[in-house]
Amino acid sequence: MITWVDSVYEAPWDVETDVLVIGGGGCGMVASLAAAEVGAKVLLLEKESKVGGNTSLSQGMIPAAGSILQKNAGIDDSPEQMARDILEKNQFQSDPDLTLHIAQESAKLVNWLVDKLNVQLALVTNFLYPGHTKHRVHAPSTKKGVQLVNRFLELIKSHQNIDIAYGAPAIGLIATRSNGAVVGATVNIRGVGWNRARAAKTILALNGFGANREMLARYIPEMAAAYYFGHEGNTGEGIRWGEALGAALLHMDAYQAHGSVAYPEGTLLTWASISLGGVSCKPSWSALCERKSRIFGTCPSCLGSASRHCVCGVRSAHL
Ligand SMILES: Cc1cc2nc3c(=O)[nH]c(=O)nc-3n(C[C@H](O)[C@H](O)[C@H](O)COP(=O)(O)OP(=O)(O)OC[C@H]3O[C@@H](n4cnc5c(N)ncnc54)[C@H](O)[C@@H]3O)c2cc1C
Repeated sequence: MITWVDSVYEAPWDVETDVLVIGGGGCGMVASLAAAEVGAKVLLLEKESKVGGNTSLSQGMIPAAGSILQKNAGIDDSPEQMARDILEKNQFQSDPDLTLHIAQESAKLVNWLVDKLNVQLALVTNFLYPGHTKHRVHAPSTKKGVQLVNRFLELIKSHQNIDIAYGAPAIGLIATRSNGAVVGATVNIRGVGWNRARAAKTILALNGFGANREMLARYIPEMAAAYYFGHEGNTGEGIRWGEALGAALLHMDAYQAHGSVAYPEGTLLTWASISLGGVSCKPSWSALCERKSRIFGTCPSCLGSASRHCVCGVRSAHL
């Protein structure tokens, strides 16, 4: 999992780059574009035969406070307000400084996507996301993350500084024994075999462990049997590498859930279905979900159970 070396000169490297990005979802693609923009040579490793990950399955909605799109719509928002909303929703469990930092960066990200990368985003104003006190969700016109992924891929392909390796799962990190600094990774490239990639910086963008049943059973047992409507590539290697390098694990029982996926069709009904008055109930109508979940329809007892729920479109319903 971790290959320890005494120095970077010890290992016979197959490939060298400035920035090695592991994981080709939204995070890894945006990190690659940002690094390439300032002149870095980037190698992006994607485990699967195509990029996208969970980002492709998502609605592509990006919350940001103080963006140009908000200002144009006359919405007075701030990173401080966004951070407060997040903290209230997660019951003050996230690190306040980190939360504020993310909120402070959010508008810069959206402005950069729109102005520099020409990503087509619009402010969603027809429904307020659960927990948001302001309209701050920015979405592509189709409200599908795959639209973002396609645009990022188009930009990446046209960028001479970025190479993508598909079917290239990173197997482990390479780190120096003296201080644990990550100097590269081992990758098993389909059709090529094992390679050692050296990098000045390595960015882990390989998401969480939703597709790893063994890790689910260990960290979130009540969700181990739940239907996983996410990307199969997300099997938690990054977390295990971090742990092997001595990092502490925190919030391992946290998960993002959608309580409104049509099964087995796999159609996402979106948060708006519930926010605008849909009721999550069991098919018999006998049992409404009574647990006060932070987002309706996503409590572990509903999602983790084998029972199915239906969402009934009742507008203006008050529970
Ligand atoms: C149905 C659904 C709807 C959602 N809607 C929204 C939304 O509207 N707004 C929002 O903010 N969030 C939403 N989310 C959550 C959001 O999609 C994710 O938080 C986000 O896409 C994560 O991006 P990422 O780049 O970190 O991971 P991903 O997009 O999942 O990408 C991770 C990539 O890493 C690759 N990978 C994994 N292991 C390795 C390895 N060892 N080597 C190489 N590659 C590896 C995977 O194959 C994958 O391609 C939604 C999620 C789902 C499932």
